[in-house]
Amino acid sequence: MQDVRDLYQQIILDHSRHPRNFRELPGASRVVDGVNPLCGDKITLFVNLSDDKISAVTFQGSGCAISQSSASLMTAAVSGLTIDKARALAERFHELVTVGVTPEESAALGKLAAFDGVREFPSRVKCATLCWHALRSALAGDGRAVSTE
Ligand code: ZN
Repeated sequence: MQDVRDLYQQIILDHSRHPRNFRELPGASRVVDGVNPLCGDKITLFVNLSDDKISAVTFQGSGCAISQSSASLMTAAVSGLTIDKARALAERFHELVTVGVTPEESAALGKLAAFDGVREFPSRVKCATLCWHALRSALAGDGRAVSTE
C-alpha cells in the first residue's frame, strides 16, 4: 500500500504546484464561486456547455493543496464529459472521500482516486469536495455561489 500512497501523494502535490486549467474562461456560460470557510479555500469555476457536454472547464482560486489539486484534477477529468457522466463522477468522488468505493470503482476514477486517503481526515473532506459542489451548481444552472457550510 505504501507505494500507492506515495503515488497518490505525488499526484496531489504535482497538481497543487502546477494546477491544470488554472485560468479564467472568457465568455463562460456558467460561473460559480465556491468557498470552504473551515479551511479558507476559495475557487471560481468556469464552465462552458455545448448541448449536453462540458466543452470547457477552468478554475481559479486559492487555498490548501487538497482544494486546489482537487479542482485541477476535476477539471481534467470532466472536460468533454456529458452532464450526466460528470454528475455520476461527482457522486462517485463523494463516495470515495466519505464512505469509500470498491477497487473496481476506484480504478474507474483514475487519478481522482488519489484522494482516497482524505476519507481518514474528515476535516479535509470539504477541501476535496468544494470544487465538485461548485460543478454541481454550475451544471444545475444556478450560477450561484456555493459554500461547504
Ligand atoms: Zn482546504
